[in-house]
Parts: sequence; C-alpha cells; structure tokens
Amino acid sequence: MTRPTVHVVGAGIAGLSAAVALAGTGEAHVVVHEGAAFAGGRRRPLFDEATQAAFEGGADFILSSWTSALALIEAVGAGSQWRPAAPEGVVFADLATGERWRLQIGRKRRPWSWLDPRRRPPGVALSDLWPATRLARAPIAAGLSAYTPRFGTAAERLWRPLALVALNVELERASARLAGAALGAAAWGGAALLTPTRGLARGLIEPALKTLARRGAATRFERRLTGVEVDDGRIAALDFVHDRVDLAPGDAVVLATPPHETAALAPNVAAPQEFASALHIHFAALARRDAPPLLGVLNGTIHWLLRGEDSLTAVVRDAGRLIDRPRDQLAADAWRDVAALTGQSDAMPAWRVIRRKRAAFAGTPEQDGLRPGCATAWPNLFLAGAYVQTGLPDCLEGSARSGAMAAERVRAWIASR
Ligand SMILES: Cc1cc2nc3c(=O)[nH]c(=O)nc-3n(C[C@H](O)[C@H](O)[C@H](O)COP(=O)(O)OP(=O)(O)OC[C@H]3O[C@@H](n4cnc5c(N)ncnc54)[C@H](O)[C@@H]3O)c2cc1C
Repeated sequence: MTRPTVHVVGAGIAGLSAAVALAGTGEAHVVVHEGAAFAGGRRRPLFDEATQAAFEGGADFILSSWTSALALIEAVGAGSQWRPAAPEGVVFADLATGERWRLQIGRKRRPWSWLDPRRRPPGVALSDLWPATRLARAPIAAGLSAYTPRFGTAAERLWRPLALVALNVELERASARLAGAALGAAAWGGAALLTPTRGLARGLIEPALKTLARRGAATRFERRLTGVEVDDGRIAALDFVHDRVDLAPGDAVVLATPPHETAALAPNVAAPQEFASALHIHFAALARRDAPPLLGVLNGTIHWLLRGEDSLTAVVRDAGRLIDRPRDQLAADAWRDVAALTGQSDAMPAWRVIRRKRAAFAGTPEQDGLRPGCATAWPNLFLAGAYVQTGLPDCLEGSARSGAMAAERVRAWIASR
C-alpha cells in the first residue's frame, strides 16, 4: 500500500515541528511548502541589502521547562546549541528613579525565595504576589487587571512588564489565563531561561531542515498556497501560485500559516484577528563585559535591552503608537534610553530599525477566545501555529507544541482509516 502524503504548509516553527514529528514515524511522506524563500517564519534571518549579509532580527529565549520546544530542539540534534541566557538573573532598570534590581529566574529559583524581599522588585510586597497563585485557574474571558492592581509599584514593576514581555499588550488588556501560563514555570517551577548560542537559525531552523532531508521529507520554497479546494467533505486539492496539487483520499494537510492567512485560506476557521507590533533597534555598539545580557527597562521608550557579541538591541513591545514614526527618530529615541542605561556617549552609532507590525497575536481574553483547536470541519485538514489553542501565549513553545499536536492528530486520522 502506498504511503499517504502529508502536506505541511508553512515552514515556521510550528510547521517545522509538525513536519519533523511526522517525518520521524515513516507512516507518511511529508512535503513542506513554504511561501517565502527561507524557513523560520517570523524568526527567519533577515537580509541586509547594504552588507549583502543575513542577520538575525533579535534574540530568542525559551524556558527550560518548555518541553515541546526542547523536544523539538533535541529531535533535530541542536541541544548543544542552547545555553542559559541570564544565569545571574534578569536585571531591571527604572529610568525614572535610577533604581536597579535583579529577578532571579533559574534552577535555584524556588517559590519560597519570593519570601526574601531582596528577591522581589523594590517596593513589591509579598501580598502583591498573591494574584499570581490564582491566574492559572482564571476563566478564559478574565482580564489580568481583574486580579492585579492597575496602579502602584507592583503594577509597574511586576505585572505590566510581564504583560508586555509575555503577552505583547499592556496590563489593562492582558489575559489573566495567559499571564498565569507564562508566569507559572518561571516563577514557581525554577525554570531557567535558555538562548541559542549562535542564533535561532543554527539553534533550530537549519538543523530542522537537515533532519527533514535526512528523513526523506521534501521541502519546497517559494510555494505560496492561494486556496484549498473542497470536494466530498474533504480537502481535495491545494492551489499554489504556479500550480495545483491533487490530494489522494488518504492525504492530509497541516496548515501552519499565520492566523490571518489561515482564516483567508480556510473559510469558517476562527482565528485571532488582532496583532501586537514590535520594534527591534540594533546598534553597532559594544557593551561593557559586565553589562547584563538581558535588561528590562521601565519608564523609557524601550522595554528591553539585549547585549549581543558586537551589538546592542533595544526592543519595544506593543509598539503601536511608535511603529510608523520615521526610522531615524525611533533610533534616536531608543539611543537616548540606551545611552542612559549603559553610560555610552550621546553620539549614536550605526543603527538598523526592524519594524514588525504582526509580531504576535495580542494576548487579550478576546483574542485567546478566538483561537481554534488543531482539528477543523474537514477531516484531513489540521491547523498548527502559535495562535492555535495551546493555553500559552504567542511563543516558541506554543508553536512547537501546536506542531506536535497537529502531527499526533494526523497520525491518529491516518491510523483510523
Ligand atoms: C521579533 C520576535 C521575537 C520573538 N522572540 C521570542 C522569544 O524570545 N521567545 C519565544 O518563545 N517566542 C518569541 N517570539 C514568538 C515566536 O517567534 C513565534 O511564536 C513563532 O515563531 C511563531 O511560529 P509559527 O510557526 O506559529 O508562525 P510563523 O512564524 O508566522 O510561520 C508561518 C509560516 O507560514 C508561511 N506562510 C504564510 N502564508 C503562506 C502561504 N499562503 N503559503 C505558504 N506558506 C505561507 C510564512 O512564510 C511562515 O514561514 C518572537 C517573535 C518575534 C516576531
């Protein structure tokens, strides 16, 4: 009997996760169709016209408790590429007051360490942390600010940064449930922050492509899906820009495209419709060796400052108001913060601004409520993507998990036939 073919559309982290899981079983032939010329989706390396070189558009962090992301990294043999990102803890700086503090996230972090006032942001009392114990059980429609204060020290130093970094929205709009999911492992479980030593391309994307090739899967680039054809209650054909693929009755499709594309390609599939933007502003500046690798910033234009080998990257989350400003103005505003934080001179070094209007789905209760499951109304069509309902915000773990979930569903469907 000929093996069925599973068409995975989209080679972002979710598509790669589904394809790697399916290609590993030998139960189906796997073909990955990617609309762009590169894999990696939102995290693919960018290309600089001026220097004619590829570069990574920002650092990536995962938690050591994120089992699906780590399982994918291990499955493609890239475990050795990852190292602890901030073993000494994540430093925060308040530009308004000049205060600095360190939040320890890591293996030594245990729930009872919050009892020690030195381990909490200054001015944050133990009672301010109480809401965190209730978030994981919050209903899907609940907002984070129904559980936390909206003003005051705990709001500004704890809950607002959490909402921005994990859910890409302001505290007032954040989902309680998603905040609980993001906070859980880091705050209570002692999970460490990990980062790829030489970027996500080498830490996951390239090893995944090699693994797929080794397992006999085909990966095709610049193949943009423009529509699906339904016949007899199943997906019967895929229309690409230049050609069409007919599906045999046992063939399946994993649509691992972003939510707005998926909603257009597969009518009747509900998906998040609101996205948060992000700005990454890279400066060709060397940080002092003792500068923290990851600096959270309060009361500035920027929200994070990342120290690279030969650059500093300023990150603005939920950048809605700023994203359309002229690039040189964005760079100048960000550099003002960077100079104040690092003690560098006001003379701005070479810079590059990367705007992402759809960096992530907005982590609000409304958008969380729109997330679909893996299965669809068509028995041979499955969904994967960070936006699929995984209980997690938009993150690498959610993408990897949704891909693994879709692969499981496909296998069960194939086995049931
Ligand atoms: C700048 C930035 C930094 C981030 N940092 C972190 C981090 O540190 N830690 C973390 O956990 N998460 C981070 N995230 C979030 C994480 O990167 C995403 O959750 C994840 O990459 C989403 O992957 P995905 O596969 O679901 O979707 P996508 O990356 O959007 O992939 C979808 C793929 O489908 C392809 N496609 C679209 N339409 C078609 C079509 N019609 N036909 C064929 N192919 C199509 C696209 O080209 C793309 O390759 C970050 C995101 C951004 C933008």
